[in-house]
Amino acid sequence: MKEKLLEIRKQGLEKIEAVKTLEELQDVRRDLTGKKSALSEVLKTLGSLSPDMRKEIGMQSTEIKNIFVDKLNAKEGEIISSKSVLDKPLDVTLPGKKITPGVLHPVTQMCYDLNDAFASLGFEVFSEDDISSEKFVFDNLNFPPDHPARQMMDTYWIEKTEDKSNNERLCLRPHLTGASVRYLLKHGAPARFVYPGRVYRNEDVDSGHERAFFQYEALIVDKNISFSSGIVMIQTILEKVFGREIKVRMREGFFPFVEPGYEIDMECLVCGGKGCKVCKHNGWIEVMPGGVIHPNVLKSANLDPEEWTGFYINIGLERLVMMRYGVDDIRWFHSADLRFLEQFK
Ligand SMILES: [Zn+2]
Repeated sequence: MKEKLLEIRKQGLEKIEAVKTLEELQDVRRDLTGKKSALSEVLKTLGSLSPDMRKEIGMQSTEIKNIFVDKLNAKEGEIISSKSVLDKPLDVTLPGKKITPGVLHPVTQMCYDLNDAFASLGFEVFSEDDISSEKFVFDNLNFPPDHPARQMMDTYWIEKTEDKSNNERLCLRPHLTGASVRYLLKHGAPARFVYPGRVYRNEDVDSGHERAFFQYEALIVDKNISFSSGIVMIQTILEKVFGREIKVRMREGFFPFVEPGYEIDMECLVCGGKGCKVCKHNGWIEVMPGGVIHPNVLKSANLDPEEWTGFYINIGLERLVMMRYGVDDIRWFHSADLRFLEQFK
């Protein structure tokens, strides 16, 4: 009887070893462990054996069955893992997986639209790093040493550089204007270029203010740039972005890097200038500061203010998008809320 069990074990293991497919495995499993298997036949004869033999043969049979089950399971795993998913028959009539296309963020869309508008006017697109230095964000731009914007309240200074000065004192750029001097130092004049990017301010967040937001700045430097060419530039840009003529007005404004400086307003597109909640009932929306480049800034860029002049405009991108679509809270743009973003398809 013992020899028979050894033979069953030997033959069984050989059968398992020879299995190639899951179908064969199923057959072998039935042959070796099913009710009609050789092992079952042996167990049926236990009643005719002596108690000692019964116990021994019973234990051996169970042991062999367990070995078969372990080997069969291992073989099954082996076959499944070696099988490619592509082995399944291809059914071309099954419905495909639906892929929803993404869209550009409305601020990015606006940025691209402005790039196109400015490129058509011969402007180059320039960009620089988000981390800048005191020299580029303040000193070069005619900010006096005691200007409040230099304080911690407004600018995010980079840790361990606070006690340094000039190019060594680093910060997250609070505005883009530093890039203008960097570009002019590298490329000289005449020049016309735009430099979009994210800027950072240490201020309280509300419906109109964010700690990080996008600006879009443009600068023309040439001989004999007039104030009126600045206005033409602004009107052209707004017209291209909004697809129709937009009324603008300029009020006096003060910024260290321009002289004279202006606040440029556009007619509120939500109410057509009649007055509404968005324009605080005065019919105009402040969209950008701008002005004639200050002589000291030209000097920082190694240009002679007697020879060269220029005109800046600085557009708040989110604010322009808010006007375009009638969005009333700037925080939506950084919310990453798909319900909001999917509306701009
Ligand atoms: Zn309005």
